[in-house]
Amino acid sequence: MVIPAQASGQAPIATPTPGASTPIVCGVNCPYPYDYDSAASPQVVVNKARPLNPLTYKPVLDKWLPLAVPAASGYRAVKKAMADAGVGTLCLNSGYRSFATQTSTYNRDLSRYGKTVAEHLAAHPGYSEHQTGLAIDVSTTALGCKITNFGATKAANWLAANVYKYGFIIRYPAGKTAYTGYQYEPWHIRFVGVDISVAMHNAGEVVLEKFFGLPAAPSYTK
Ligand SMILES: [Zn+2]
Repeated sequence: MVIPAQASGQAPIATPTPGASTPIVCGVNCPYPYDYDSAASPQVVVNKARPLNPLTYKPVLDKWLPLAVPAASGYRAVKKAMADAGVGTLCLNSGYRSFATQTSTYNRDLSRYGKTVAEHLAAHPGYSEHQTGLAIDVSTTALGCKITNFGATKAANWLAANVYKYGFIIRYPAGKTAYTGYQYEPWHIRFVGVDISVAMHNAGEVVLEKFFGLPAAPSYTK
């Protein structure tokens, strides 16, 4: 397996070698200095029980794409690989969302539909992975870059099978809502760095929370 060395766009912050033959199985006793708490860390775990710290965090963004710098580099690598595979032209439906945008979106949904429905439509401000700049909703130009029906496309199949090579995971896999708090979202990819995405792939682990030994986050705790 060939791992694009610079897919992460940054020097690795952890010690394992991407593509090492020994699976790196992390968890509560992870031997590597992964950082899933700091908002700027590529490994940060944000979910309904783990808001960003600070709540109003803003990443350093790429010059051209609405993404944190390492995620933008990874996105470009995925886009090129998908084009080379001939399964579609990747496009970015939604990347970084600011705390202010998330606040107005959530409050609008809240006033229109009430809390239960609003929580299905938008994350609480400060609790959206999109605010890290590391999460991307993708589609293809063939779908007008809309996410509806993306899961049924060849591009989505290719993405699910290959995106780990470029430092991404499908963050909300099918059947894992009890851990992630989100329904299956085949379009939502999350940059975690090549070392983590390859280690998860090698370990057969698809849930980021479980990989790091963190508790399930099925719903908001407050
Ligand atoms: Zn998303």
